[in-house]
Amino acid sequence: MSRFISSKFDSLKPYEPGEQPTDKKYIKLNTNESPFSPSPLVQKAISDEEIRSLRLYPDPNANCLKNSLSKHYGVKKENIFIGNGSDEILALIFLAFCDEKTGMAFANITYSFYPVYCNLYNIKAEQIPVNSNFSINPRDYFNCSNNIIIANPNAPTGIALNIDDIESIIKNNKDRLVVVDEAYVDFGAKSCLPLIKKYDNLLIVRTFSKSRSLAGARIGYAFGNESLICDLEKVKFSFNSYTNSRLSLVAAIAALEDEDYFLKCRGVIIKTREKTYKQLKKLNFILLPSLANFIFAKPPVFISASSYYNKLKQMGILVRYFKNSNIDSWVRITIGSSEEMDTFIEKTKLIILEAQNENCKNGTQNK
Ligand code: PMP
Repeated sequence: MSRFISSKFDSLKPYEPGEQPTDKKYIKLNTNESPFSPSPLVQKAISDEEIRSLRLYPDPNANCLKNSLSKHYGVKKENIFIGNGSDEILALIFLAFCDEKTGMAFANITYSFYPVYCNLYNIKAEQIPVNSNFSINPRDYFNCSNNIIIANPNAPTGIALNIDDIESIIKNNKDRLVVVDEAYVDFGAKSCLPLIKKYDNLLIVRTFSKSRSLAGARIGYAFGNESLICDLEKVKFSFNSYTNSRLSLVAAIAALEDEDYFLKCRGVIIKTREKTYKQLKKLNFILLPSLANFIFAKPPVFISASSYYNKLKQMGILVRYFKNSNIDSWVRITIGSSEEMDTFIEKTKLIILEAQNENCKNGTQNK
């Protein structure tokens, strides 16, 4: 730390993104990226002309992408906000709608960026415990004294709430903002998009990073009441007007046009998730029912999550392990390609067998 950093950041603990080691080639199942390349239409759209136009600033209002999203989802342009990945939109939401009086409430097991934003802006973080099966109880969020954010499906559990439950939370918090983070909604959960017409206190945050294979392009979007979108624009334009690169906007529009490709990739990921779930179950992992592109898993008793994570890493496979957290006996496994998941299961079997043998040996020695 330099001697110039503001003292208000003394206790700031930044979010830790998934590791990206460069010592060798890994099978990357640790950051919920898509195993598929972006649609071939994306490559076509990034033409020489688009590259030449990089001398110009992008449209600060991202009108072209708003038009495409408007057509695609049947939502008016005035109800759409575009950001540099959904992380940026979340950061703007915490900044725009929370203050010393109104903090943010969220599950105690959820996306670990939420408490970081609270810490950054000095906002109260109200952490609401999940049930013993890791599900969220909607009633725990009724009549909340803070704004609310719910990842649906939740991360890293993969468990989704149904729309009626989300609606009950919105209805019972008329004077609070309810943010639904739908980063993973395309993998099987129901979106609460139809509710934005009914409620002026709902914001839905989405991303092109997962189901549209564009994590590297950094494009997120939000749907909500026109006045909420205006507020977000006001804060955005007080911070950085050109948040999305020209090429990223072009890529997002092209990806949105290729519905067949989107449906095909998503279908394969869902099928692979179900297959992986069954395989891990057979190996005695404890698993949560996931509607996302990852599985949250607890290895069998004779091997710790940290040891399993380390052994996989030695074998060239990265999964996400949340060290020093309330979920340090679990790992989160992103669904990769079918071939990657075959290798993952094969290596997992080896690790489990070795740990089991080790366990038996120690048991015999201790007798
Ligand atoms: N929300 C959740 C729940 C996430 O897991 C992620 C990915 N880390 C994001 C938002 C942010 O995604 P992006 O910024 O790539 O759109």
